[in-house]
Amino acid sequence: MPNFVTHLESTHDGTRLTKNTVQTTHGDQPIVVHYDLPAVGRAVTRTQVAARPATLWKWRELLPYENDSDVVTLGENQTPLLCCPRLAARIGVRKLWIKDESMLPTGSFKARGMALAVTMAKALGITHVAAPTAGNAGGALAAYAARAGMQCTVLMPEDTPIVNQLEAAAYGARAFLVDGLIHQCGAIIKEGAARGLWFDMSTMKEPYRLEGKKTMGLELCEQLGWRLPDAILYPTGGGTGLIGMHKAFAELLALGWLEIGTTLPRMFACQAEGCAPMVHAFLQKAERAQLVQNATTKASGLRVPKPFADMLILQCLRETGGAALAAKEPDLMRWFRDAMALEGIAVCPETGACLAVLHDSVQNGRIHRDTEVVVFNTGAAQKYVEALQTPLQSLRRASIDWHALGGQS
Ligand SMILES: *Cc1c(COP(=O)(O)O)cnc(C)c1O
Repeated sequence: MPNFVTHLESTHDGTRLTKNTVQTTHGDQPIVVHYDLPAVGRAVTRTQVAARPATLWKWRELLPYENDSDVVTLGENQTPLLCCPRLAARIGVRKLWIKDESMLPTGSFKARGMALAVTMAKALGITHVAAPTAGNAGGALAAYAARAGMQCTVLMPEDTPIVNQLEAAAYGARAFLVDGLIHQCGAIIKEGAARGLWFDMSTMKEPYRLEGKKTMGLELCEQLGWRLPDAILYPTGGGTGLIGMHKAFAELLALGWLEIGTTLPRMFACQAEGCAPMVHAFLQKAERAQLVQNATTKASGLRVPKPFADMLILQCLRETGGAALAAKEPDLMRWFRDAMALEGIAVCPETGACLAVLHDSVQNGRIHRDTEVVVFNTGAAQKYVEALQTPLQSLRRASIDWHALGGQS
């Protein structure tokens, strides 16, 4: 079956690049995939797509691979969209959904991007992939590379959560701890790619991880009955999720699968105060983000001191009437715990940042309480042993004493 890709395009100057060839960046900016959307619309209806098995591959006509036999998969099932009444009441908003991406292979939404990127890399003959990682990307890349029978090299900061360190190695990658942050790991990966050691799979430095992440937006829309929420809060590190969803909504509108005149959701990039380059750039009305020095936060996925796709992130926020907002570290940790206890969802600290931002924004009126909000849970709590240990310290030791448990005899 042919795909519907027409060409790849530079976001730097619109230069068209050919499909089915190895592509990286252009003019030091990301490259994006373009489809023949009228032809997609003639080939398939939204009802037909909805009736397919609930995995990300149901969006086949909006994905870049040629042959079904190329697909590298670990079972990327559609993730649940969970209504959260108790959390909504605590925050003071009418309707709150969490889209729970922790259910994907390797326990984070990084699986979506890597499933597509590794599928394409394999089809294009690449045999060794590499990436810098703040945590989950390394585990996901290592897993999909193993599945594809490829070599994988991952570089991560020394204080990356322990589970992320161990999983990358366990999936057979050459995993290195670097005395620096993710952008410094990225510089080494870039150098190695230039020397021909491997292919650089960094966030937004090849066009296909974005296509995988895009399926979050496609799925969300279908799950809501082919409409969109009023606001989306997304924990933003490198920005692929945000940019991918924005691309998804644009494609759905062009296909006529959303009602004409549908307004896009206000998109909010949520960051942690200890590393908030997009918040500073947004406030300063700048075009580019500036490197954050000494970036720190337990929400490790947000520890990206200077996102490569900063311009595209800012475009999404401005076009949709959203904003970039930061959560204080104690607040994001508190909401991380509260969300788990209130709803039983294994949220990650990054999602804690979104909930803290939502709470503040409802308090100060930036987000109206009647707004229908979707928050993304991008990773599984189980991967954050260090962060979970904080609440665990408050566990009382009861031994085998019924009275200590508060029971009556
Ligand atoms: C990578 C990651 C993020 C940031 O994702 P981007 O789409 O690159 O901005 C957020 N949360 C978690 C858990 C992550 O692993």
